[in-house]
Amino acid sequence: MQEILLATGNAKKGQELAELLGEGWTVWTLRDFPKVPPAIEDGDTFEANAVKKALALTITGSGLILADDSGLEVDALGGAPGIFSARYAGEPADDARNNALLLENLATVSDAERGAQFRCVLALVAGGKLFRTFEGICRGQILRTPRGTNGFGYDPLFVPDGYAATFAELPAATKHMLSHRGRATRQLLEFLHPPDRG
Ligand code: IMP
Repeated sequence: MQEILLATGNAKKGQELAELLGEGWTVWTLRDFPKVPPAIEDGDTFEANAVKKALALTITGSGLILADDSGLEVDALGGAPGIFSARYAGEPADDARNNALLLENLATVSDAERGAQFRCVLALVAGGKLFRTFEGICRGQILRTPRGTNGFGYDPLFVPDGYAATFAELPAATKHMLSHRGRATRQLLEFLHPPDRG
């Protein structure tokens, strides 16, 4: 078993990351280190924020630390909400209010112009130092009404390209196969355990 500390306070995101890492990992989360103050996410890119979140946990002395910074980039909104996805409708972060604001801001946008993508950047810290970052993108469309109860965040509004169902309607395994987080995590796993090319 390898140990890894996930730098996220978002329980759903932590669960997805743990599922994506798969067996063979003992996963710790921020909840195991309640005294560590949360990192201030004031970077202007997903990468900067992921690196900040991961490095903030080096004080725990953990060997491997993984942080995810992710969000939704909507074409018709010039890439918004982007790095502000979690708190798009203000503090405290609230998925339902974020989804309602997104729908309001896209009310006059035609079906053909509702393209969007989720982006995820993972930052891996090993031995107290930033090792590498990994990025995954998943393209899709934003609906006009939410559908489904799985997942979190903007999942009920996001239909991945090539599918008719939203991320909140699709089974977790399908989301993992397609998602920004799934793509980034598979790169990470390949980096940590390169396939034996014989
Ligand atoms: P972070 O915790 O600062 O990285 O913010 C991530 C935010 O982006 C979440 O709170 C969601 O609003 C959104 N987001 C990221 N990944 C997903 C996803 O897989 N599904 C739906 N929303 C997501």
